[in-house]
Amino acid sequence: MAPLPGSGLAKGLAVTLRTMTKKTVTAQYPDVQPELPPRSRGVIGLFEENCTVCMLCARECPDWCIYIDSHKETVPAAAPGGRERSRNVLDRFAIDFSLCMYCGICIEVCPFDALFWSPEFEYAETDIHELTHERDKLREWMWTVPAPPALDAGAEEPKELAAARKTADKLAAEAEKLAAQAAEAAEAAEAEKLAAEATEATEATEATEATEVAEAAETTAAETTTPATPPTTATGPAEQTAETEPRTEPRAEPPASDPSKPAAPQDGDA
Ligand code: SF4
Ligand code: SF4
Repeated sequence: MAPLPGSGLAKGLAVTLRTMTKKTVTAQYPDVQPELPPRSRGVIGLFEENCTVCMLCARECPDWCIYIDSHKETVPAAAPGGRERSRNVLDRFAIDFSLCMYCGICIEVCPFDALFWSPEFEYAETDIHELTHERDKLREWMWTVPAPPALDAGAEEPKELAAARKTADKLAAEAEKLAAQAAEAAEAAEAEKLAAEATEATEATEATEATEVAEAAETTAAETTTPATPPTTATGPAEQTAETEPRTEPRAEPPASDPSKPAAPQDGDA
């Protein structure tokens, strides 16, 4: 049956009207951040404290886009007579997100819960070579990983939470130990400074006392040595007596005046 004339136009107008009345789904990104599902596969975060460098993720990755470098370290025995152990230390962990196809195999196979999906997606680059992100960046993304859903009542605590708590406790203990060491060092420095000031004060006091003692000794020595030296001017009673007593020796008679010479003028002569 032939369509009625104008029915196509009516159908088109009906579609337009239906769409116009629907709620808009346009996201005003980047002015408004999208609300993504919590388990979105945005990027991979690395919790490197859990990584034992077992290389399982790198081996299982279908794209071979995980790069891991490590070295071995010898750990001394925990107790005397114990055996030394060797452990792998992570040097490099990088993921090339220009190759990654977000399959999630690496996260699934990691036996130590060191890899997680993060909903973070704002890491576009203009150069494809800059899409290889190293461990520091992967660690930053780790903090954007949403918390797991609440557990059922009586369920066992997830390993990642226990590991995170263990790491947090370890870091807190280290920070506390460092703070205590810093406080002890500050106290020791303060005590040393006070001791140095006390020593300086004691030395100054001793020097002052020694000077005073020396001055007193000099004064005493001067007082003790003065009578031994004969006085230049006799002032004792004997001398005073000698001076006050009349001379008994007859004064020498003045020579007879020469009548031929004029007499010496006397006091009171004009
Ligand atoms: S998500 Fe898949 S492709 Fe990407 S790094 Fe992990 S295993 Fe490789
Ligand atoms: S599988 Fe997990 S523990 Fe092993 S190397 Fe990869 S991230 Fe580290």
